[in-house]
Amino acid sequence: MQQDERISAKLKKFRPSLTLELKNEAQARRQRGETVFDFGLGETRGSHLDPVILEAGIEAFRHERTGYAEPAGLLELREQVLKWIPNTTHYSTDNVVISNGAKQSLFNIFLATCNPGDCVLFDSAPWVSYTPMANMAYTTPIQVLPFSRPNAYLKIGPEDLERNLTMRPHAKIFLLNNPVNPTGQLYDQGELDALLEVCSRHSVYFLLDRLYWKLVYDGAEYPEPYPNRLAPDWLIQVDGMSKNFSRAGGLRIGWTLAPRDVAKAMINLQSHYTSGPPTPLQYAALAAITKPYRGRLRRELQSRRDLLHECAKDIPHVKIWPTAGAFYSFWDVRGVFGKKVNNSDEVSYALAREGVIAASGSSFMQEGYLRFSFATTEDQIRGGMELAKKTILALK
Ligand code: PLP
Repeated sequence: MQQDERISAKLKKFRPSLTLELKNEAQARRQRGETVFDFGLGETRGSHLDPVILEAGIEAFRHERTGYAEPAGLLELREQVLKWIPNTTHYSTDNVVISNGAKQSLFNIFLATCNPGDCVLFDSAPWVSYTPMANMAYTTPIQVLPFSRPNAYLKIGPEDLERNLTMRPHAKIFLLNNPVNPTGQLYDQGELDALLEVCSRHSVYFLLDRLYWKLVYDGAEYPEPYPNRLAPDWLIQVDGMSKNFSRAGGLRIGWTLAPRDVAKAMINLQSHYTSGPPTPLQYAALAAITKPYRGRLRRELQSRRDLLHECAKDIPHVKIWPTAGAFYSFWDVRGVFGKKVNNSDEVSYALAREGVIAASGSSFMQEGYLRFSFATTEDQIRGGMELAKKTILALK
C-alpha cells in the first residue's frame, strides 16, 4: 500500500463539516481570551433543556432501561412519532425508524434506496452535509437551480424539478429541507404539493427533511405534505430532536417515516451497524414529543430574529433576506465585493478575524451569501451586529 492510499479516495475529498470548523474557530478565540460573537451555531444557545426531557433521561438510567432496544427503535417512541407528525393515519409503527440523529436517518435512506451511480437531487442551497452523504452512498449529488423562479429567494419550482428529472433517468431521490437551512425560507403548501406531485409522477422519492418544522414564524402553519392517492409510495419524512427542542442536538435522536419496504431496509441496515440509538435517550425523546408542544422556543427565536434584523438593517452594501422559518438569517453580501474582498469566503474570514463567526454561502453551494444563526443570546446579537457593521464598512 502506498502512503497516500492509507485513507480512501472518497474520504480524502471531504472537508470537515463547516459548522464544526466554525465551532473550532470560535473555541480557539475563546481560549485565547478574545471576544467571540458566534453566529455559526447549528443549535440553540441561551435556553435550557426542558426539565421533562432531563427527568425522563435520568429516570431511564435509574430504572436501568439501558438494555438494547429493537433496531427500529422503542415501540412506544415509534407510536408517539405517529402522533407527533400530522397526517399519519394510514401509517403504522412499521413505517417508523428511530436513528442516531437526523443525519443518520438521511444516510440510512440513501443507503437503503440508492444504487451506485443513482442521482440524488437537492434544492438550490443544500445543507452542508447532504453532498458528503450522497458521495458516501456512491450516488451523484445534483443541485436543482431556480431558473423558473429567479426572485423567489432561491426556492425552486416544479418546472425546475421536472426539467432535472426528465434529464436524469437515474434520479432516485429529491431531498428538500423545509424550512430551509441555510436560507430561512419556507416552501408553502402549494409549492410543496407541486414538487411532491412531480416526484410521484416520475416515481422518485420525495424526501422531506422537516427538522425545523416547529420553527416557523409570524403565525404561519407548517405546510404538511399530504400523502394522497398518488404519493404514499414516494414520500419519506425525516425529523428529530435536534432543532425543535432547546439543547437537544446531543441526544442524537432522529426518526424517519417511510413506506414500509424502505423502513424495513433501513432497519435491516441499522441492525448491523448501530442497533439503534441509546435506549435511555429514546426515553428522553419520548417524553419530549409526548408533552404538548407549547412553542416557547419558537417565540424566543422569533424575537431574536426580529432583534437581529433590527440591529442589522442599516448595514450598508448587504441585502438581508426575510426569515420565515428555521433560525438563520441569510445575507446577500455581493455588494461588499470589489475592493478588499471578492467572495463570501473572504467576507466570512474577514468577519472571523474580528470575532464575528458566520458561515459562507459557498458551503451551501451559494457563493455570495452569508448565513447567521440567531439561536443565540440577545447580547451576542447586539454586540455581534455592531461589530459586523464596522467590519463590513471597512471592507468597502
Ligand atoms: N438536516 C438539516 C437541514 C440540519 O440543519 C441538520 C443539522 O444541522 C441535520 C439534518 C442533522 O440533524 P441531527 O443533528 O439530528 O443529525
